Amino acid sequence: MVRRTPKAPRQELPRLEPAQRLEVGCREVALGFAEGQARAEALRCLDCKDPACVDACPLHIDIRSFIRSLLDGDYGAAFRTITETNPFPDICGRVCQHELYCEKACLLGKKLEPVAIGSLERFVAERRPVESPAARRNGGPKVAMVGSGPASLIAARDLAGLGYHVTVFEALHDFGGVLRYGIPPFRLPREVIDEEVRRLRGSGVEFVSDFIVGRTCSLDDLFEEGYAAVFVATGAGLPYLMNIPGEMLIGVYTANEFLTRVNLMEAWRPQAATPVHLGQRAVIVGGGNAAMDAARWARRLGCETTILFRRGRTELRARLEEIDHAEEEGARFEFLAAPVRLLGNDQGVVTGMECLRMRLGEPDESGRPSPVPIEGSEYRIPVDVVVAAIGQAPNPTLQRATPSILTRKGKIVVDENGETSVPHVFAGGDVVRGGSTVILAMRDGRAAAQAIHRALSGGESA
Ligand code: FAD
Ligand code: SF4
Repeated sequence: MVRRTPKAPRQELPRLEPAQRLEVGCREVALGFAEGQARAEALRCLDCKDPACVDACPLHIDIRSFIRSLLDGDYGAAFRTITETNPFPDICGRVCQHELYCEKACLLGKKLEPVAIGSLERFVAERRPVESPAARRNGGPKVAMVGSGPASLIAARDLAGLGYHVTVFEALHDFGGVLRYGIPPFRLPREVIDEEVRRLRGSGVEFVSDFIVGRTCSLDDLFEEGYAAVFVATGAGLPYLMNIPGEMLIGVYTANEFLTRVNLMEAWRPQAATPVHLGQRAVIVGGGNAAMDAARWARRLGCETTILFRRGRTELRARLEEIDHAEEEGARFEFLAAPVRLLGNDQGVVTGMECLRMRLGEPDESGRPSPVPIEGSEYRIPVDVVVAAIGQAPNPTLQRATPSILTRKGKIVVDENGETSVPHVFAGGDVVRGGSTVILAMRDGRAAAQAIHRALSGGESA
C-alpha cells in the first residue's frame, strides 16, 4: 500500500536558467520532471473516490488511474490510460492550460496546491512505450479536414482509426496550426509536432500543404472530388487591430504576423527571408498567451520588453507558467494602461506610444472587471517595436467563399452535432468558438469525428 503525502510541497518543474534561455533562443525552457520528482508529485494525489479532475478535463483523461500506474512504476500502463482519451499527451503536457481545467478542480487544490497534473502528463508522455506501427485501414469513405490545428489532428486520427480515408488540407506550408505558427519552439519543440504528424501519416492520414479551401478549391469541389464529409477547423487567425492612429507605421505588428514570421519563417535567423523590424524597446499590448509568446521572443531578439495590459495582474489570461517565464526572462509588466496613439518619424517608423492610465470598473461580458480610462492621464513612452496581441477572430476565407454556411460575428454556427448549415460539413475549434484553447479544440475535433462517423455509417456510434 503506497503512503500518500498530500501535504508535501508541489514539485517545481525544472527549467533552463533565464540567461541560458536568451542565449539559446529556441531551446525548450520547461525541462520536465525527473523520475524522483514525478513520484513525489504523484504521491501528493489523494486518489479521490470521486475524482473531480477527470470530469474537469475536457477529454476526461482518467487522471487518477494514470497517477496510480505511475506510482506502480508501470509507465506503459500510465501512457495507455492517457492515450485512451488523449492521443497527444506530449503536446497537452506542455501547452494545455491545466489551471483552467483539471488542476482547477483538483480536490487537493481546495486547501493546498493542486497536483501538478500537466507535468505528470508530460512525464508519462516522455516515457512512451515502443509502439508497433498503427494498422492502416483507410479504405473507407473519404473525409477532408480543413486546417491542420489540434481540432483537425485529433479528428483525423480518430477517423483514420475507424477506417476512413482522411486528407488534411492546410493553407500554410507546414502543419499544426497555432501549435506551429503561434506557439514558440521554446514552449513546444517542433520535433514534438513533427512526430505527431509523422505518426498520423503512418496511420494513413494524407497531408496537403499550401492549399486554401475557399480559394484553391471550394467546399463543393471537395464533394465533387468524392469527399463524403468535411470538417472545417480553420481557427481564429484574423487578428484584431488596436484601431488607433499610427497603427500602420513600420515596426508595428499584430502578434499573429510577428509570431508567424519568427516561429514559422524563422525570422530569428540572421539571414531570414522574412525578418522582423527590431530595435531597442519593444512594447507588447495584451495579456494572453500570444502576448507572452511575443514578449518572450522580443527578449530573445534583444529588446527591452514591456507588456502593456489594460487590466490588472489577476486578469491576465495567459498560462501562469508563461507569465512567470516572461518575467524571469526580463519582460516588464505595465498594468492598467492602454495605447491611444502611435507616433512615428519622417521615414514612417514607429518611435513612440501615447498611453492612457486605466482603473478597474464593473465586470464586462468576459466576466472580468472592465478597464475604465482615467481622463487626463496620458503619458508617452519611446518604442521601436509594437506588437498588438489583443485577440483574434475566425479566419474568414472559407466562409466568404461559401455563402450557404451560416455564421455569427464571423464564427461558424454549428448544431449540437457540430454540423454546419451545409449538410455533411462539420466545424469546430476556434473557428466556432473564437480564440479558445488547445484542449477545447481537441474536444470539438473528437466530437466532430464521432458525428461524421454516425452520419456516414447510418447512425453507428464510434
Ligand atoms: P488552429 O490551431 O488555429 O489551426 C487552424 C489552421 O487552419 C491553421 O493552420 C490555418 O493556417 C489553417 N487554415 C485557415 N484557413 C484555411 C483554409 N481556408 N484552408 C486551409 N487551411 C486553413 N491554447 C492553449 O491551450 N495553450 C496555449 O499555451 C496556447 N497558446 C497560444 C499561443 C498563441 C500565440 C495563440 C494565437 C493561441 C494560443 N492558444 C493556446 C490557443 C490555441 O492555440 C487555439 O485555441 C487552438 O490552436 C485552436 O485550434 P484549431 O484547430 O481550432 O485551429
Ligand atoms: Fe488526485 Fe486531485 Fe484528481 Fe483527486 S482531484 S484524484 S487529488 S489529481
